Amino acid sequence: MELSESKTIIVTGGAGYIGSHACKALANAGYLPVAYDNLSRGHDWAVKWGPLEKGDILDSDRLSELMKKYQPSAVMHFAALAYVGESVTNPLLYYHNNVVGTYTLLRTMLRHNINKFIFSSTCAVYGDPQELPLTESHRRSPVNPYGNTKAMVETMLEDLAAIEQISFISLRYFNAAGADTEGEIGESHEPETHLIPLVLEVASGKRPHIEIFGNDYDTPDGTCVRDYIHVTDLADAHIKSLEYILDNKGSEFFNLGTEYGYSVNEIIENAKHITNKEIDVKIKARRPGDPPALIADSSKIKKILNWKSKYSNINQILSSAWEWQKNN
Ligand code: UDP
Repeated sequence: MELSESKTIIVTGGAGYIGSHACKALANAGYLPVAYDNLSRGHDWAVKWGPLEKGDILDSDRLSELMKKYQPSAVMHFAALAYVGESVTNPLLYYHNNVVGTYTLLRTMLRHNINKFIFSSTCAVYGDPQELPLTESHRRSPVNPYGNTKAMVETMLEDLAAIEQISFISLRYFNAAGADTEGEIGESHEPETHLIPLVLEVASGKRPHIEIFGNDYDTPDGTCVRDYIHVTDLADAHIKSLEYILDNKGSEFFNLGTEYGYSVNEIIENAKHITNKEIDVKIKARRPGDPPALIADSSKIKKILNWKSKYSNINQILSSAWEWQKNN
């Protein structure tokens, strides 16, 4: 990075789960993270490592003001709606926020000559896997509106990169989980729909049981298999991505997973062990849009960015999430 470059990074969605962990990692790496968040799903208590600028990614005037005020060297874009089920029942809400919102953000950035962009993408862009583990060259064919919105933004980014208007890294997260290992921040969704926090709510007595969405899949124990990655490992990948695009003009897509899959049953069994509590289960019907198994091939990011997971052992994921849940 050139010395003259600003150390300020705009983090849209910086008050959210993954965004707030990225802000902490940015501050630890010597950057100033400016969290830009409308607080519709994020929390002001999660913004601890830089200023909070309240605003919406759909508001181009407010975004312009922000770019002028901070002149960031890059934007990390986490702000998005991210419930698959909600995207199925309300697709236009998702296209508006995730696609029009990102379009507005990109257009404003380019007007202010800011052209380094790190995008929160998802393994949902692949749809039903044709083969496992998934590599970045697997065809993009989402099976729900949420995945479609992320794939559309990736297309938009490729088109802009082709004419050198932007240089971007699109990080395709597998299942983000766990909490800050120092207990400063953690997952807090309303409503909560993700497996690990729900299982831990059962362990702490907040819920009577966990519903298993299908035990008749073509997987070793019949329940769905996912690749769970610790949120601190995700945050670290954002710092490595930032340093890469600040030094390079190129653009890249990277999977972010651990390359190990755990079934829903295995998560519950491990959670019983970590919490030392009983966890009652009820078998329910399959949830629409759930592929049987999603496992990342993360060799590309390991090779190019020298990233590796440090906290994503399933016990570390569950125990950090359990600590967070007990204390909050
Ligand atoms: N799941 C489940 N019960 C729940 C929530 C999730 O059985 O109450 C399953 C879900 O069907 C999927 C896995 O757990 O196979 C992970 O789901 P989650 O919503 O955490 O993440 P996703 O894979 O949808 O991103």
